[in-house]
Formats: sequence, structure tokens, C-alpha cells
Amino acid sequence: MFDTLSDRLNKVFTGLRGKGRLSPADIDATAREIRIALLEADVALPVVRQFIAAVKERATGEEVSKALNPAQQVIKIVNEELIQILGGETRRLQFAKTGPTVIMLAGLQGAGKTTLAGKLARFLKDQGHAPVLVAADLQRPNAVNQLQVVGERAGVAVYAPQPGNGVGDPVAVAKDSIEFALRAQHDMVIVDTAGRLGIDADMMRQAADIRDAVQPQEILFVVDAMVGQDAVNTAEAFQSGVGFTGVVLTKLDGDARGGAALSVRSVTGQPIMFASNGEKLEDFDVFHPDRMASRILGMGDMLTLIEQAQRTFDADEAEKMAGKLAAGNQFTLEDFLDQLQAIRRMGPIGNLLGMLPGAGQMKEALAQVDDKDLDRTAAIIRSMTAAEREDPKIINGSRRLRIANGSGVKVSDVNSLVDRFFEARKMMMRMTGGMGLPGGNRRNA
Ligand code: GDP
Repeated sequence: MFDTLSDRLNKVFTGLRGKGRLSPADIDATAREIRIALLEADVALPVVRQFIAAVKERATGEEVSKALNPAQQVIKIVNEELIQILGGETRRLQFAKTGPTVIMLAGLQGAGKTTLAGKLARFLKDQGHAPVLVAADLQRPNAVNQLQVVGERAGVAVYAPQPGNGVGDPVAVAKDSIEFALRAQHDMVIVDTAGRLGIDADMMRQAADIRDAVQPQEILFVVDAMVGQDAVNTAEAFQSGVGFTGVVLTKLDGDARGGAALSVRSVTGQPIMFASNGEKLEDFDVFHPDRMASRILGMGDMLTLIEQAQRTFDADEAEKMAGKLAAGNQFTLEDFLDQLQAIRRMGPIGNLLGMLPGAGQMKEALAQVDDKDLDRTAAIIRSMTAAEREDPKIINGSRRLRIANGSGVKVSDVNSLVDRFFEARKMMMRMTGGMGLPGGNRRNA
């Protein structure tokens, strides 16, 4: 699911890599490509429009961060906007203050309601609740039986009309189930309702009657993510016909485009609460907008890295540093120490590199990277006087010995640090480009 969207978005980001800064034309072109990606994935048009407007505004606006390069910048904005259309915060179930909590499931036939009932019951049971499943789908032959099978698999009780009474009144069954739950000490009631193949007035009325009879804390609209644009229409019909408090996306394991399902939250204003991604009981999870967004972006921990970089590098500092780097000869050991510390603040260097896309193949190289090297280098610089850090040329033999003793290393380590520093500074002066430091690329683009 969402593979096409992921691929397209990643192409957009790849195209931005290596760009020094984004011109208004670049931003327009990027926005256009993102728009096509979303439309191809079946995201509803009004949602796409809103999304693109936000991305454009933010990519042009003042919040553009000096700590990030343009590709990272766009990834960050797209990620945050995706989280936004997916609902922002993770929404948890609301529980009744007294008596059993009632969750009613609504949706078209085949959406995955009965399967979800089992998954939800198992999920709640694992959390220490005592749920009961209620068969209020008396329309479909075999529906009661199917729920019983599901209940057995999930290891939870099922409340159903007595055999021979199968064509009874689903509203009455639902109502009686609350009494039953109270008597049998079930604290959660999950009511499975009938679905039709298409939306019809009878079905809506029946669902509304069941709703009125059981007064649910939550009405979950269950929608098959594979149905495409129809998901939005169905959601709107259910919203006006029955109303719902949350959405469950099912069949996210399918290979369809899925964008319509992503629009449901924006179109109806109700949060996506759970996601189903398979036929087995355990193929189910609470829906986290942020995790889904990063899955869609296929960026793994790149997003974490971006956040950390932003937290760690103070924008003004970065700008100053970039200036010094460009000039080369103004770059001192003191600056070098600042940078080492900034890098160390981001966590173990191995983790940091591991977060870069493609780092998987670099495992062996990463194992060689040693935080202790960085720490040792920092210790050597700390043993220097301010004058020495400012102008390393004055570091003669006796100073080197003092520094080595002060930092607990060999004189040869001090020598090698000083040599490497001069070497690096020479290179900087030659390249007028920064060393890939934040701000450095942009300046010279
Ligand atoms: P209902 O009519 O809304 O109660 O839908 P069902 O629960 O009977 O599900 C309809 C079909 O979809 C069944 O064959 C389920 O096994 C299947 N199904 C439900 N949820 C998922 C899911 O998340 N992934 C996949 N692949 N199939 C699902």
C-alpha cells in the first residue's frame, strides 16, 4: 500500500538533492510533482489542493531552516503536512464513565467489520478488558455464525440471537446486549452491524436505530482502503446518515493506491483510529499518523535525523561557521571543538550514520567509527589554551608535550591532530565550499 505514492515522492526528493537553494520556480515545480503524486495515489482533490498550498507557503516562508538543506527541508514539510492530513495526534478510544463502553462498527458489506470486531476484541482483551461481541448483523445469512467463529478465535464471548431466531430485530439484539454485558460483567461491548453492498436508506436507518439504542461511546466507520475514490463518498454518506467518531482503514496490506482512504480524515474531520493490514487477528494496530507518514515517505529514520540536526545546530551558529569555513583561514581549533560537540550531541556517531538512507550496506564501515576518537580529539583541544586554539601555529614542541600530558594522550596524537587540522584548513581554503556543514552548501550555491 502507498508504494506508488512513496516512489513518486522519493523521486521528487531525489531531484532536490544537491540543490543549494530553492528558487520560486523550483518550489513551483516541486509542488507540481507532489500534486501529481498525490492525485495518482487517489488522494481527494480538495485534500490535494490544501496540501499543496501549505507546502508551497511553508517552503517559501520564513520558517525555512538554516540547519537543513533544501531536500531535507521539503521532506520535513511534506512529512509534517502528511501527519496533519492523517490527523496529527494519535487518537485513543474513549471509555464510558459508568457501565460498559460501547463501540459500534459501521460500514459497507465486505469492508472488514466482522474481521475487525475480532481484532478489536483481542486487542482490548490483551489490555485487560473483558469485551463481548454483539451480532447485530442479521441481514447476511451466516453473519452471526461468522462472528461466532471470530469470537472463538479471539477468545472472547459473543452475544447473538438464539438459534432459530436469526431473522430477529437487530436493534433489540443490540439493546439486550448491553443488559447482558452488565449482568456478565463485560466492560466493553463491540456491536457489529449489517452492511450493504452500496449505501442505502434502509441500512442507514437501521444503523441509526442501533446507535440510538446502545448510545455508543465510539462509532467506528470501517472502510476498505482498496476501494479508491468511493471511500470518500461512502464516508460522507455514513457521516450524514449515522455519524461516526473514528475511522478504521482495512486492507492496508493490499497493493492499491490507498490515497482515498488518506483523504477520509480531511474530508470528514474524524480521526483514523485503527488500521487493519491482513486477515489474521494480529494484523491490526492503533493508527499513528506520524508513523504512517514516515512509512509513506519511506524515509525510515531520515526524519529523526532531520529533527536532531535541527535541534542540535543553532541556525545562527551554523551561518557563522559556514562563513568561517568559506574563508578557511579564520577557522580555528575552537570552532573545530564546537563542531565536534555539536556532532556528539546528536548521539553516538554510529547511530547517526546508520540513520542515513542506504547506510544498511555500510554496516562494516560504521563499525569502525569510534566515538572515542571524537572524544579524544575534543579532550586534546580542551587541554589547549585559548591562544593555542585560536592560532595553532604557536603550538611548539613543549606546548605539545604539555597538551599531551593534560589530555592523557601521546605527543604523536597531538601532532597528528594539529597536522590534520592544518591539512583540513588548507583544503577548505582551496574549495571555497563548506565541508557539507549546515549552511555551507547553501552559501556557495
Ligand atoms: P464485513 O462484511 O464488513 O463484516 O467484512 P468481513 O470482516 O467479512 O471481511 C470481508 C473480507 O475481507 C473477508 O474475506 C476478510 O477476511 C477480508 N479482510 C478483512 N480485513 C482485511 C485486511 O485488513 N486485509 C485483508 N487482506 N483482508 C481483509
